[in-house]
Amino acid sequence: MDEEKFDVIVVGGGLAGSTAAYILAQQGLEVLLIERGNYAGSKNMTGGRLYAHSLEKIIPNFAEEAPVERKVVNERISMMTEKDAVTMSYHSPRLAETGSDSYVVLRGKFDRWLFDKAEEAGAMVTAGIKVDQLMVEDNRVTGVICGGEEMKADVVILADGVNSLLAEKAGLRKRVQPSHVAVGAKETYELPAKVIEDRFSLTGDEGTAWLFAGSPSSGQVGGGFLYTNKESISIGLVLGLEHITESGKTLEEMMVGFTNHPEIAPLIKDGKLLERSGHVVPEAGLSMVSTLYGDGFLICGDAAGFCLNIGYMVRGMDLAITSGELAAKAVLKAKEKGDFSSSSLQSYKEMLDNSFIMNDLSVYKNFPAFMDNPRIFNQYPSMLSGIMADMFIIDGKPALPLRKKAMKHLKAVGLLNLAKDALNGVKSV
Ligand SMILES: Cc1cc2nc3c(=O)[nH]c(=O)nc-3n(C[C@H](O)[C@H](O)[C@H](O)COP(=O)(O)OP(=O)(O)OC[C@H]3O[C@@H](n4cnc5c(N)ncnc54)[C@H](O)[C@@H]3O)c2cc1C
Repeated sequence: MDEEKFDVIVVGGGLAGSTAAYILAQQGLEVLLIERGNYAGSKNMTGGRLYAHSLEKIIPNFAEEAPVERKVVNERISMMTEKDAVTMSYHSPRLAETGSDSYVVLRGKFDRWLFDKAEEAGAMVTAGIKVDQLMVEDNRVTGVICGGEEMKADVVILADGVNSLLAEKAGLRKRVQPSHVAVGAKETYELPAKVIEDRFSLTGDEGTAWLFAGSPSSGQVGGGFLYTNKESISIGLVLGLEHITESGKTLEEMMVGFTNHPEIAPLIKDGKLLERSGHVVPEAGLSMVSTLYGDGFLICGDAAGFCLNIGYMVRGMDLAITSGELAAKAVLKAKEKGDFSSSSLQSYKEMLDNSFIMNDLSVYKNFPAFMDNPRIFNQYPSMLSGIMADMFIIDGKPALPLRKKAMKHLKAVGLLNLAKDALNGVKSV
C-alpha cells in the first residue's frame, strides 16, 4: 500500500459496509472500514429478521457462530382494531430449512460480529469516527475527510445508510424525499426464554415474526412488528413520514396504544423495558434506487435505496449484504484492470441487474403505491373484525344468514372499492 492511500475505503460499518470490507480484505486488498458509531451496530436498528440466504453464500453456516437470536418458524399477520385482532399464522419447519431460513437479530450484537469478521479478514477498521465529506478531484471521488484529515483510496464504497448524506453533499445523488421513507420506533422487553417460548408456543431456538396492520399505526399507512429474541421481545411501529401527523397522535402515544392492546399486552407482561430506538427506513422500492456508481465510488445497502417493504415482509438486510458483496466484486474486477472509472465500475450495476435485488425490486415496483391506500389500514381491519365478531359471537339473539351479516361489513367499505383494491393488489404483486 502506498503510505497514504488505501485500495478501498468503506464508509459505514452496517451490514452492507462490513460485508464489502470482509470480502475485499479476504482477497488481500488494503481496506479501511470507517464507522461513526462507538461500535458497529450502535446506531443501527431493524425489526428485525434477517433472511439468511445472502450471508450464507459468503460465510457458510454463519448462524452457528454469529449472535443470532432465534430461527423463525412461525409467521403471523394480524389486522387490528382498538380491541380486536384477526390473525393468520403459518407455523412450519420448512421455514427453518437451510436456504430458506431466517433469523431474528439485534443489530448491536450482530453488526459488531460482522465488523469484527472484516477486521479478522485483514481490514483496518475504526469505530467512533465520522466521515465528514468525500474528497472529490476532477469530478472523481478520491478519498474521504474525517475531522480535517484526508484519507485517499482508489475507490470509496458508500454504505452509510438510508440518508447517505455524504453522497448528497458531494452532489452524487438527490436528497431523499419524505414520501420515500418511513420512521420506525422500537422497544425491546426482557423476558426469560422459557416465558417467551410458552407465550409463543416455541421450543428451543425457534422464533416468531409478526406484522400488524390497523390500529397500531392509528389507521395510517404503516404498521406494527414483533419479533422474539432469545431473552427479549422486539416490538415497534413503522409509519410513512408523510402520514405521521395525520392521526393527531404522537409516535409515543401510538406505541403506548400498541403495547397495551389486548393481543399484545399479555405477551410482554412483566417484561423489563431494555431499550428504545428509532430509525428511518427506505420504503419506496425501485423508485428510490438512485445513483449506484461513478468515477471512484460505489453505493450499496440502504444508501442505494435497496429495501423492500411489501406489507407482510420487510427486507433490507439481505439486500444490504448482497449489494455489499457485489460492490466488493466490482472493485475486485476494477482492481484487475487498474481502472476505477465509472465505466469500469459499471460491472456493479450489471451484477445487480442479474441478482435477486433488482429482480425483486422490479417485481414489487408497484407495491409501495398500492400500499399508500388508507383503506388497508383503517377500513379493512374493521371489516374483518366485524365479520369475525358476527361469526363467533353467539349471544342468543335470532341468527341472520352469515352472507347477510358479512354483506353489511363489505358494504361499509364499498363493493367497488373492494373490487378495485383487490385488482390493484393482485396487479402490484
Ligand atoms: C423499524 C425498522 C424495521 C426493519 N425491519 C427489517 C427486517 O425485519 N428485516 C430486514 O431485512 N430489514 C429490516 N429493516 C431494514 C434494514 O434495517 C436496513 O435495510 C439495513 O439496516 C440496511 O443496512 P445498511 O448496512 O445498508 O445500512 P445501516 O444499517 O443503516 O448502516 C449504515 C452505517 O453507516 C454508518 N454511517 C453513516 N454515516 C456515516 C459517516 N458519515 N461516517 C461513518 N459511518 C457512517 C452508520 O452509523 C451505520 O452503522 C428495518 C428497518 C427499520 C428502520
